[in-house]
Amino acid sequence: VPGDPASPPDDAAGAGHAPSDRTRVRRKAERGRYDAATVAAVLDAGLVCHVGFTDGGATYVVPMVHVRVGDALYVHGATGNRTLRSLADGATACVTVTLVDALVLSRAAFHHSMNYRSVMVLGRATRVTDPAEQRLATAALLDHLAPGRSAEARPPTDAELQKTMFLRIPLDEASAKVRTGGPVEDPGDLALGLWGGQIPLTTLAGTPVPDEAAAGLPLPPSVTSYRPPANQ
Ligand SMILES: Cc1cc2nc3c(=O)[nH]c(=O)nc-3n(C[C@H](O)[C@H](O)[C@H](O)COP(=O)(O)OP(=O)(O)OC[C@H]3O[C@@H](n4cnc5c(N)ncnc54)[C@H](O)[C@@H]3O)c2cc1C
Repeated sequence: VPGDPASPPDDAAGAGHAPSDRTRVRRKAERGRYDAATVAAVLDAGLVCHVGFTDGGATYVVPMVHVRVGDALYVHGATGNRTLRSLADGATACVTVTLVDALVLSRAAFHHSMNYRSVMVLGRATRVTDPAEQRLATAALLDHLAPGRSAEARPPTDAELQKTMFLRIPLDEASAKVRTGGPVEDPGDLALGLWGGQIPLTTLAGTPVPDEAAAGLPLPPSVTSYRPPANQ
């Protein structure tokens, strides 16, 4: 697996320093970011991506778990998975990750908004066939869900890997779009006596619930130290 999952790609081979014609943000262009660090940070903070592709003339958008490793994104699933098979067969992928940070309430209905961080990755996927890369991708996926989990879980067997398809999608055509701050207001609306501002939104982790076989066992570090990534 190229790169280190803990650090963003840092050179021109990374997530791109200039937008492509397809990824250049046109609407609210000042919110567009194309640097590898911003793209990586959003991908790393998101637990779920949405994988868009076209198959048989129809377009599908499928939620999946992802992980970024260096300058690539990995997704995985069963070998019979239609989404993964379509991408492995050459369909162009459009993968998005969206984090909602706040509701932005304006005096005017028209100016209500959200603060968000989002990324869109365009690219063609490559099927990962090297078992060593599959194992590293598996560990990275687990550690993306709960840091440290890969050191606690039983590693996949060869048979389990054979039932799993891993795809690698390069991050060389990617954009981020980020909104921060309070509401945009028409100057005349500020004197209306209406409330405006932000309602921050965060993801909370609840109390861990052991299953029957875990009753009485101490909580492992991945559980005791768990923090939702979107809030870090
Ligand atoms: C949070 C989350 C994370 C997930 N992570 C993964 C993952 O990492 N890997 C993985 O393989 N799968 C994951 N899934 C399941 C995934 O969304 C698909 O259901 C699954 O991958 C099967 O894909 P397929 O292309 O074979 O679907 P098919 O079964 O071929 O889809 C046929 C039809 O079923 C419907 N359908 C399929 N999936 C969904 C869905 N999720 N919601 C509503 N309707 C649906 C659609 O109408 C679709 O056209 C995740 C789902 C969620 C919600």
